[in-house]
Amino acid sequence: MKNKALEAVLGDGFTFMKRRLGDRTLPYQHWGCECGDEWFELINSLCGELESAYKQRSLTPDIRVLQVKQKFGRLRFYYTFEGEKDGLVIDFLGSGTLRIGSADDGISEDIKNLRSEIKSIVSKYEEKSATVCELCGEDGSLCRLQKNYYKTLCERCCNELAKKS
Ligand SMILES: [Zn+2]
Repeated sequence: MKNKALEAVLGDGFTFMKRRLGDRTLPYQHWGCECGDEWFELINSLCGELESAYKQRSLTPDIRVLQVKQKFGRLRFYYTFEGEKDGLVIDFLGSGTLRIGSADDGISEDIKNLRSEIKSIVSKYEEKSATVCELCGEDGSLCRLQKNYYKTLCERCCNELAKKS
């Protein structure tokens, strides 16, 4: 995001969004949220729901945020868990993110449920991002600005940006 103060709010609000200075190992640590400022509310609510999923179970969040970005006009929120390999994440145009994590061996039912809840929270917000303009926060939809360059925008922002590009 352009507005670093907004990113700081995320880092102060959620332990798993806290960026460690000088850590360049993960895209999120390096770049923060690679999307427009207007998705702040969306990401903030997403993180809030993740946190309550842990709180309900009296667990400390063990989610590791790998990358938060805009791709094909949609929010992508890539994550893994502490102690897990970073795994593979595959993106498809127009659908959510497919995570190929480690096997569920040795994970309790409780954690399995938690992880599937996390997965649906993340997909819910990834879906939602396709309906929120990245520039002004109004209702938006996928807008093609140039070849292979998409953003989720409202009609007004789409027209304005199309004029500029
Ligand atoms: Zn707009």
